[in-house]
Amino acid sequence: MAGRVEGKVALITGGSSGIGRGCAERLAQEGAIIVVTDVQDAKGAEVVAVIEAAGGKASYLHHDVTDEQAWIDTVAAVKAQYGRLDILVNNAGIGLSSPVTDMALSDFRRQMAINVDGVFLGMKHSLPLMREHQSGSIINISSIAGLKGSANMSGYCATKGAVRLMTKSVAMECANARDGVRVNSMHPGIIDTPIWDTIIGTGGPGSNAVGDRPAALDAMSETIVPLGVKGYPLDIANGVLWLASDESRYVTGAEMVIDGGLTVR
Ligand code: NAP
Repeated sequence: MAGRVEGKVALITGGSSGIGRGCAERLAQEGAIIVVTDVQDAKGAEVVAVIEAAGGKASYLHHDVTDEQAWIDTVAAVKAQYGRLDILVNNAGIGLSSPVTDMALSDFRRQMAINVDGVFLGMKHSLPLMREHQSGSIINISSIAGLKGSANMSGYCATKGAVRLMTKSVAMECANARDGVRVNSMHPGIIDTPIWDTIIGTGGPGSNAVGDRPAALDAMSETIVPLGVKGYPLDIANGVLWLASDESRYVTGAEMVIDGGLTVR
């Protein structure tokens, strides 16, 4: 039986870790050819090895998403190797927690560069290749922080709100162009990944949590998540898989929220 994204070529930024890695492994299970990109080269090679050991197809490219020339080179490499690009998961991101009065402008700008410039450049340089085959699915990883405010996360919320509306704008451009490309945003809640290591205990969400990351996220989730538990990368990857597949052919400009009910409360 064919997989749900059989033969589609998928580029996943920040794919060496956390949610990006989960997406790479899940899409590969369903038949996609995966290009993992990241700045963490050793971890990226490990993801490729895991996918190949399971019988999937994957490769890794070093790629800083803030660098426009790196995007041009990455998309050119994908075109040279596979001739097409069907799925782009703009996932690479960082999370910096600080009261607005304490945040250094350089940190605010660095977070904007990775979380916003990276998504902008990804869409700018991937769309022409997708349009060559008149089809594609772009999934931009925003956050529940792109839907509601959170103390000490002003810079991060700014980036994720920007991703949310940039997604809708480009979705309308693609729809107007009748280019067959759909563009949607994904809004994860509390997902157990290394991104939390820079947030827990710093005055942002989880500032009252104690213990190591898994325990801290368990405690925080029990208190504030309606379902009472944290999520895992696979929870997000399953949603990304659906948005990437033709099962979501009539969905564009939409927001998929996977957060255990956190934004409802
Ligand atoms: P993660 O485990 O830290 O993975 C992010 C990956 O992106 C890391 O390998 C990171 O490398 C890489 N990266 C950082 N800067 C980069 C750059 N300039 N170019 C290319 N790659 C870069 O975090 P995650 O939780 O999976 O986050 C993935 C996405 O989900 C992010 O956009 C995040 O904002 C979003 N998100 C996460 C959660 C959550 O609860 N985990 C919730 C909502 C949204 P380094 O380790 O060197 O930084």
